Amino acid sequence: MAENRGKPHAIMISVPYQGHINPFVNLALKIASKGFSVTFVHFEFVHHRLSKAHHCNKTQVDIFSEARESGLDIRYTTISDGFPLEFNRDANYDEFWGKVLREFPARVDEFVRKTIESDPYLLHFLVADTVFSWPATVAEKYNLVNVSLWTEPALVFSLAYHLDLLRENGHFPCKDNIHEEVNYVPGVKSMSTRDLISVMRESEQRNSYTMLESLFLAFEQVRKADFLLHNTVHELEAETLSILNKYQPNYAIGPINFFKNLPTYTVSKSLWSESDCTEWLESKPPGSVLYVSFGSFVHTSRQEIEEIAYGLLLSEVHFIWVVREGILSSGDTNTMPDGYEDEVKDKGLIIPWSNQIRVLSNPAIGGFLTHNGWNSTIESLWCGVPMICYPFLFDQPTNRKLVVDDWKCGINLCDGTSVDRKEVAEKIKSFMSGAASKRFRQEANKVKTILHHALEVDGSSEKNFDQFIKDLTEKIH
Ligand code: UDP
Repeated sequence: MAENRGKPHAIMISVPYQGHINPFVNLALKIASKGFSVTFVHFEFVHHRLSKAHHCNKTQVDIFSEARESGLDIRYTTISDGFPLEFNRDANYDEFWGKVLREFPARVDEFVRKTIESDPYLLHFLVADTVFSWPATVAEKYNLVNVSLWTEPALVFSLAYHLDLLRENGHFPCKDNIHEEVNYVPGVKSMSTRDLISVMRESEQRNSYTMLESLFLAFEQVRKADFLLHNTVHELEAETLSILNKYQPNYAIGPINFFKNLPTYTVSKSLWSESDCTEWLESKPPGSVLYVSFGSFVHTSRQEIEEIAYGLLLSEVHFIWVVREGILSSGDTNTMPDGYEDEVKDKGLIIPWSNQIRVLSNPAIGGFLTHNGWNSTIESLWCGVPMICYPFLFDQPTNRKLVVDDWKCGINLCDGTSVDRKEVAEKIKSFMSGAASKRFRQEANKVKTILHHALEVDGSSEKNFDQFIKDLTEKIH
């Protein structure tokens, strides 16, 4: 490994999506808080969007300036993905991610080489997102300790890690709409093929060569990582994590978005401008508002939006709905049905982006209609908010299984059928009122206690993080 060259210095590179940036920024702050020097590398377009977006707290061009003022040795730089800033990466996912897979590695290589040649902070280790296709290659070439951050549950990691086993058993690819039992993945309790990550399904396979290629490359690389960090909690996924630990050193350190004693809440990370919902929420009774969001990446059809829109209205429940610009797969920017917002009046707030953690923490929130991105799922549970689950793709169907089937903290919106406004209304109504809602909240509060305890001084994640720092330091020196 790298010889001892003073204060250990890391380069950290996040995947340029909101669900990856959020934990990555917090991890960078936490690593810096342990006395390491950190250079955080954002994609250039991410930096551009971060500095343009207006946040509830403030707009910051340098997201780490306050952290530096409070004594952390952390700085911020950018790397180009080869596309012009104005290129619409969201609408052209395949082209964008294809280039990130195939051409970005050479850019990272050059970036690391130049940093090593010119930087007074000599480089010791690399912290990269597991889904990248290059970390092991770069770490080996430049003799860096290789730390990989997995931002999804350990269950999803294990499925992707054991792809060969799934293939041998005829479940990769697995057929759409056929439910078969998967009961042979080490550390994973019996589950249905319908809960596998979406790229394992046949229809997904036909459409998403880039996603599959990405998964293959990432899981070839991650086997060579020196340390693997998971944004989960040991008590929630103990069996899965203990099997993974047999292969390489794994540390469950989550929930990363809630790390304590960091300048976390003042560091703005949203790529979109945040609407402040506090005043509106404070005018509503406790537990009465449904929060609705499908995250930063999901695209949907006009028909789906319409069914949800009128389902919300028919339910007569107060709601905040995040309708991201560009959420329609058609690319159409005119998202809501004509006249809908006039019909909603004070019943709901429709906003382009929220400060989600702040919204979920508000006592007025009684439920979360979510796509089950892992960050959203964990944020909801951290706040003890039960969920109505409506997964779309990637890890979301698997996360749904954890929430509904294993932890009993929510319900399904529709079981694989197309969404219908009447069903939406009925589900929301019964979920937000009565005995069922109480039961789900109780279960969500049990998970909340586990998550909060994990980040206490004697909690599992805090201890795992300290162990990681100890092991990392030994490896560097
Ligand atoms: N988020 C937010 N405001 C919104 C919607 C989402 O701040 O209006 C944040 C949310 O808190 C979470 C991230 O964006 O940390 C989304 O990540 P997730 O894994 O839930 O879903 P993805 O966007 O990756 O599909």
